[in-house]
Amino acid sequence: MTTLQQNYRNVCSNIARAAAEAGRPSESVRLVAVGKTFPAGDIREVYAAGQRDFGENYIQEWYEKTEDLADLSDIVWHIIGDVQSNKTKFVAERAHWVHTIGRLKTARRLSVQRPYKMPPLQVCIEVNIAGEAAKHGVAPDEAVALACEVAKLPNLKMRGLMCVAKADAGEAELREAFGRMRALLAELNAAGVVADVLSMGMSGDMEIAVACGATHVRIGSAIFGRRDYSK
Ligand SMILES: *Cc1c(COP(=O)(O)O)cnc(C)c1O
Repeated sequence: MTTLQQNYRNVCSNIARAAAEAGRPSESVRLVAVGKTFPAGDIREVYAAGQRDFGENYIQEWYEKTEDLADLSDIVWHIIGDVQSNKTKFVAERAHWVHTIGRLKTARRLSVQRPYKMPPLQVCIEVNIAGEAAKHGVAPDEAVALACEVAKLPNLKMRGLMCVAKADAGEAELREAFGRMRALLAELNAAGVVADVLSMGMSGDMEIAVACGATHVRIGSAIFGRRDYSK
């Protein structure tokens, strides 16, 4: 087994433990392995260990990986970075999920550009849960309204909400933020939209996110190692 495969195993067992401690079945938490900045070969290694759901932030980098990994036909691609208007076509044609819908305009373009032979693109609304200026996503009090509009688009399937917690938040602050996400999902359901996904939790805050109801955790460095953005 390679180092990455060992890391992957460890992350899977940490997720299972966090789920068990929260009294949840381990299948209720899905791992999205985040490969940004890492080469396609690393993804291939983790795929060989059994992982199928992979997340990417940068559309150009991801596009190149989809070419390199085209033989892995059952890989499930999750876009977890900002999708600019000029990049929606690739995403509509090759992604399975977009976790980071922050504007109705982007959602409309994705719906229009989704090839009719493909199943609907699964989407989440990104919520800027701590109101940070540098973060993408909608304000918490706008999330339900946007989700209701996105849910009407024919070629998208509204799945739920996503957030990136504050990097330096302590446990209490994380619980507060993740708890608000859960409450927003309940509000969305009460507004008549069937959605069940809470995409929250990363390498540093995964356990707390699972305790707070995360259904999708997005884990990068704990599997692939430290990222080097200078390359
Ligand atoms: C990079 C990234 C992750 C993974 O972060 P790690 O801390 O490396 O686990 C998860 N979600 C988003 C949106 C990211 O950009």
